[in-house]
Amino acid sequence: MIDNKFSLGFFPTPLQELSKLSKKYPDYKLFIKRDENTGLAFGGNKTRKLEYLIKQALDENCDTIITAGAQQSNHCRQTAAACAIAGLRCHLLLGGEKPDVYDGNLLLSSILGAEIHFTAENRKGEDGEILKTKIENEGRKCFVIPYGGSNFAGAMGFVTAVKELKEQLIEQKLKIDYIFFASSSGGMQAGLTLGKEVYQLDSELIPISIDKEELNGLSLEEAVLNRIEVGALKLNVNKKFNLSDIKLIRDYDKEGYGVVTTNEINAISELVKNEGVLLDPVYTARAFYGMLDFLNKKRIPTNTNILFWHTGGLPAIFKYANDLQ
Ligand SMILES: *Cc1c(COP(=O)(O)O)cnc(C)c1O
Repeated sequence: MIDNKFSLGFFPTPLQELSKLSKKYPDYKLFIKRDENTGLAFGGNKTRKLEYLIKQALDENCDTIITAGAQQSNHCRQTAAACAIAGLRCHLLLGGEKPDVYDGNLLLSSILGAEIHFTAENRKGEDGEILKTKIENEGRKCFVIPYGGSNFAGAMGFVTAVKELKEQLIEQKLKIDYIFFASSSGGMQAGLTLGKEVYQLDSELIPISIDKEELNGLSLEEAVLNRIEVGALKLNVNKKFNLSDIKLIRDYDKEGYGVVTTNEINAISELVKNEGVLLDPVYTARAFYGMLDFLNKKRIPTNTNILFWHTGGLPAIFKYANDLQ
């Protein structure tokens, strides 16, 4: 199951110390996992999920992928690139109305050859089955990837990411106490939670919620739990999970998805000034702000090692020029 993937990225991604920032927060030692460098058309965490999802589509002899997201969806951009590599057609269902000028991820998805459908308020794949029927009536075979690529197959990318991290920790003789990351459609969180059990990773996950809205009628906590339960059966993980085990930090999603505030802007500036590493304004800046807030308020024990898992998203910077310049 673990090897049943179609190679799309450059792995392992680097695991590095943030040494200047660690000096600024001397109670903690800070590290970063560089998944903005997965290598697939500007990179990001969806590359790991797509290695499993695209393999499944090819195994099922599908010739067309359908997926959905916001216009600045990193998942859709990486899916378009993955389809180009795998020789699959790609249809994207993107929320909102067609803009006059494409930029950021939308521009890249278009350049990468995806056929784009604008779906107004439906930005989480609500129109997928209708489009599938229409395309299959034309004689094609479609594979629908859910919003964010977050089903069990997608989450597998993060089960194996834990294996990758564990090998790096052994090699670097390092123990990580806490892992911060942006959680939005929940596939990464489900995969890391399962991977922690499969590979006995002794680190606590601190997922920062990015999008306060529900996912097809479920809270993100419920969606993550469902995927963990499916995955636990398939991976023979015996641990029983309850809703109360699904930690999700809700303190930083109040402004809503894709809204950039001074918190995000300050987080971008803090990391870039000290380390020269860019964050995206929607996901990683919000999660990084949350992490710094935890450190400033000492919400986790001092003298611990902290990992920030960079999940990508950088093309969206160009869409947010007005907020960032
Ligand atoms: C999709 C995405 C996430 C969140 O991953 P999920 O598995 O959807 O929770 C975080 N950061 C970036 C940049 C993303 O594109």
